Amino acid sequence: MAATARDLLGDIDFDPAELHAKYLHERDKRVRPDGNEQYVEITDRFASFGDDPWADASFEREPLTDHVDVVIVGGGFGGLLAAARLREIGVKRIRLIDAAGDVGGTWYWNRYPGAACDVQSYIYLPLLEELGAMPQHKYSFAPEIMEHSRRIARHYDLYDDACFQTGVTSMEWDDSESRWTVFTDRNDEMTANIVVLATGPLNRPKLPGIAGITSFEGHMFHTSRWDYDYTGGDTYGGLIGLSDKRVAVIGTGATAVQCVPHLADSAKELFVFQRTPSSVDVRDNAPTDTDWFESLEPGWQKRYMENFTALVSGYDEPEDLVGDGWTEIFRGLTGIAAKDASRRLGRRLDPREKEEMMELLDYRKMNGVRNRVQTTVVDPSTAAALQPWYRQFCKRPCFHDSYLPAFNSSNVTLVDTDGQGVERITPNGVVANGVEHEVDCIVFSTGFEYGTSYTRRAGFDVTGRNGETLSEHWADGVRTFHGMHAHGFPNMAFIGFVQTATTVNIPHALAEQATHFAHVVSESRARGASVIEATPHSEQEWLAEIERTAVRARKFYEECTPGYYNNEGHVTDGTGFAAGMYGAGPIKFFDLLARWRDEGGLSGLQLR
Ligand code: NDP
Repeated sequence: MAATARDLLGDIDFDPAELHAKYLHERDKRVRPDGNEQYVEITDRFASFGDDPWADASFEREPLTDHVDVVIVGGGFGGLLAAARLREIGVKRIRLIDAAGDVGGTWYWNRYPGAACDVQSYIYLPLLEELGAMPQHKYSFAPEIMEHSRRIARHYDLYDDACFQTGVTSMEWDDSESRWTVFTDRNDEMTANIVVLATGPLNRPKLPGIAGITSFEGHMFHTSRWDYDYTGGDTYGGLIGLSDKRVAVIGTGATAVQCVPHLADSAKELFVFQRTPSSVDVRDNAPTDTDWFESLEPGWQKRYMENFTALVSGYDEPEDLVGDGWTEIFRGLTGIAAKDASRRLGRRLDPREKEEMMELLDYRKMNGVRNRVQTTVVDPSTAAALQPWYRQFCKRPCFHDSYLPAFNSSNVTLVDTDGQGVERITPNGVVANGVEHEVDCIVFSTGFEYGTSYTRRAGFDVTGRNGETLSEHWADGVRTFHGMHAHGFPNMAFIGFVQTATTVNIPHALAEQATHFAHVVSESRARGASVIEATPHSEQEWLAEIERTAVRARKFYEECTPGYYNNEGHVTDGTGFAAGMYGAGPIKFFDLLARWRDEGGLSGLQLR
């Protein structure tokens, strides 16, 4: 009989049907009818969870009523990259506005102990060549990323016009003047020719919707607002304030994976409340090899970024320049593995054969992840509870070398809730599985809003040309052209996660969008236009493209355990990663944008 792709995998020492059933069982336990509604928004009595611990509380300034060329809302990498590219095409007055006290975006807020980026610094930190900067480590710690953000702001001269500790409250298009008026919580009423919304995908902390949070009499905070006054220490650890404290961490996602080892080192007692375990693979950080870094040829960063994004999009590249855990996973579990099998068999794989192979490889990879838990964590029942039962990309893969060993410390207890989560909080502690655990401090590592509306997460609404608000325009679902422009909202651009394609290396996607938008601005200027706007037709066509390309991802995520990747298990609701993004992947998306730019007609946009 002719060989099949399955034959190439050698011995299969597991039962795929059994694993599939186990995955579905674990998912079913966790899917809740309330989906995203299970979480609490940090407003009203929970508003203090969003307070900025880093900003100068006494900061005051006079309201602004001036005019600038561009207002950019959001000082994270999206906003900074948009500003950099606009500066490069000669835009003079660029105003970054951010509720935070500085640039940095997610890295401004997330200063929890152990905060670091597990995407390699050489591709994650944008504009390294432009700025002549060298990251200190293969994986940067948060302070370096924050400092790099500041360096970008200085390099492109963005501080002078910036407004920090300022929340936009609304924006209105003035058609007679062809410009926006931007209102803020500091009574500003400034105007701008162009507005860019780079408000971030995961910017609003969320809390579990459980009873009793505000009844807790101890101390509590969200990981993105770490209270070092209480814990002592800093992002590198040394949390001496916890040496006599019993601490609870709720949540075991990518953030908890990074901060739990430090809490375990410092707290008298640590209880880690788990609903779903993360997949935790090898990280292997190291200082930068300066000889290697200095040997890199000009243009290297773009080449590295593109090589990485191609590999993590399933493209078979001749070399793997980054060569880390991410590319290892993607090389093993995507089209690259299928192409390799096809080469070895000397024929194309039929779709079912390919799908079966992908599934088997995934089971094998996750068996490896589960074995890592078993060989690292000494207590058998803790080890069993820390094993993830879902396919690799159902949740964000994590990479860490101290998280699992932390559970071997005698002061650390894993409270596994068998997928049900924490039940409630009492004045004295946290209740799970019907048992109250008394603690002095609760750390909410419960993540950020994703499936909620764009305007809710941005914190403001926008009134466009016809008096229609953005939330009205998107009442039946998001509609954009290329994920960047909306009909009725002239001279406005979205940089981020709206109907676009992203990649593991998010700054790469943001950089492509920034370059694209700068092109649109410079081309429309060259044509003497001061107003650009998407046509209704271009929005419709892009929506159809999103719908067409999202189908495959949707099918995959339907079988996944709930999380923000699959709209908490409600994939068909039209929100969440799978439904709202360009499903053909970043490489095709970047190519599509590049072709559109090359065509030169700015088709799909109306110019005045
Ligand atoms: P996540 O949304 O990934 O995790 C939230 C955690 O809270 C989950 O473990 C969730 O469980 C748990 N949870 C929610 N409600 C309850 C409840 N009622 N009881 C118990 N547990 C509960 O947030 P993170 O902050 O960890 O990460 C968010 C994102 O930030 C990541 O996915 C990643 O994109 C980014 N990040 C990136 C890093 C990097 O290195 N580049 C590092 C850290 C974060 P369940 O899974 O069951 O929903």
